[in-house]
Amino acid sequence: MRVLLSEQQIQERIREIATQIHTDYEGKKPILIGILKGSFVFLSDLIRELEMELEVDFMATSSYGDATTSSGVVQLTKDLDVAIEGRDVIIVEDIVDTGLTLRYLRQLLLQRFPASLAVCTLLDKSARRQVEVPVDYCGFDIEDGFVVGYGIDYAQKYRQLRFVAIIEEDFNE
Ligand code: 5GP
Repeated sequence: MRVLLSEQQIQERIREIATQIHTDYEGKKPILIGILKGSFVFLSDLIRELEMELEVDFMATSSYGDATTSSGVVQLTKDLDVAIEGRDVIIVEDIVDTGLTLRYLRQLLLQRFPASLAVCTLLDKSARRQVEVPVDYCGFDIEDGFVVGYGIDYAQKYRQLRFVAIIEEDFNE
């Protein structure tokens, strides 16, 4: 395992993103939707940098396939608790990879007529994109490779790391 992003790098970037969101949503009260489970650490740090009125809700998806590749078939396993019609919505993701999860979520949420819908992701593997999806706020564009830490797991482990690490191909638990 090798450290890709240090705690300090992550925290600095989150402050920058928070400043951008604060400027863009001046006078508004956005709903930040964390996509479980991977985004919960990012979301919790992000909202504590956002000195503005906001709400938080969560959704969860699962995609059929093995642990390290996405099959592209996305299933909703937890829906929102609140209605989003007329609201400013920000989807908060851990990683955008092929873009298939995000495309599914965007289509689902747009059917509910939000006033606006933006996407904020900690990590973007933009080189691996299979479908075009708009990303409005991005922490870091990263190389291909399987990452863990800072909320992101491998077989439910490593979420509590304060940094993001990349698992090497010969990785042995
Ligand atoms: P997409 O639908 O864009 O291909 O996949 C996005 C989701 O796949 C992410 O939200 C995340 O759950 C998972 N994912 C993609 N890359 C990685 C990775 O490197 N590590 C882990 N743990 N999950 C990943």
